Amino acid sequence: MAKDYYKILGVSRDATKEEIRKAYRRLAKLYHPDLNKGDKEKEEKFKEINEAYSVLSDDKLRQQYDQFGTTENNGFQGGAGGFGFKDFDFDFDDIFGSFSDLFGFGQRQNRKRVVRGDDIYKDLTISLKEAALGTEKELKVKFSEKCPHCQGTGAEEFETCPTCNGSGYIRKTRRTPFGIFTTTTTCPKCNGSGKIIKKKCPVCNGKGYIQKEKTIKLTIPSGAEEGDALRIPGAGNLADIPGDLYVIIHVKDDKTFYRKGDNLYYNLKLSIPEAVLGCRKKIPLIDGSSKTLRIKSGVQPGEELVIRHAGVRNSKTGHTGDLIVKVEVEIPKRLTREQRKLFEELKHTFSS
Ligand SMILES: [Zn+2]
Ligand SMILES: [Zn+2]
Repeated sequence: MAKDYYKILGVSRDATKEEIRKAYRRLAKLYHPDLNKGDKEKEEKFKEINEAYSVLSDDKLRQQYDQFGTTENNGFQGGAGGFGFKDFDFDFDDIFGSFSDLFGFGQRQNRKRVVRGDDIYKDLTISLKEAALGTEKELKVKFSEKCPHCQGTGAEEFETCPTCNGSGYIRKTRRTPFGIFTTTTTCPKCNGSGKIIKKKCPVCNGKGYIQKEKTIKLTIPSGAEEGDALRIPGAGNLADIPGDLYVIIHVKDDKTFYRKGDNLYYNLKLSIPEAVLGCRKKIPLIDGSSKTLRIKSGVQPGEELVIRHAGVRNSKTGHTGDLIVKVEVEIPKRLTREQRKLFEELKHTFSS
């Protein structure tokens, strides 16, 4: 049987989110492993508290738990394994606030950070023909790269940080309910580098990066659909590691054809005599050519005639769709005197 998460947190079943959060805060501090080193029982309890909070603080999971007494069939990993410190870290600052650096969680090592350039997102609109058959495109992309003048630092000249005297960190002694603690935190003024900008780089105006533009050659695979994203690795903003470029495909509506999956549709308008007697009709194809169809006499409105493999060449599936020709029969709204006479005569032949 599943655990009673309300009981674990010591709250009623109708507790508000705020009450749940408060209860969790109080218990998490009490059972935190750093305060109870080696105490297996308290560590287990701590995991239980986290598990309970993960469920009850999430509206969807809480509702499911209330209803079924479990969250198991939601892909939710119950038990100690599912609630490691990874989940916990996520909320750490929110829950503990300044409490965190008390235990050294807030101390970040002054290791060199590798900076990855941001990804760039670009929209590209193509025609239905280009989507169906694939195409090559050139795309102008604005991107940023490290300023060559200041090597990305944004500075022409540095000076020693006055806040930390160049050490990059600040020591603080604090009295807390658990005793006196000395904590070391990264200097907020210089972010741990020990120096600050004295004179801004004139080339990038202190930003550390400059804007450039490049032309990217793109191959749009046939079968592309509205909303498809093409990823071009390394074509994003430049930094230690370049970001990626994502091109979001938009497909314009076509005047002649419309698309459903890999099939293309074409509405064929026939006059009443053409539908009744049969005819030959030239059907346009997406590649610009055409094909002549023989329409048999007595074709019905809404009937679908299929031209095999004249649809979308889907390079993802290797499948080529069909062109579906949908028959429409036009009923004339106005008749000439002669037509009216002929229809009147025709009418008699149909009366039973
Ligand atoms: Zn610069
Ligand atoms: Zn500093």
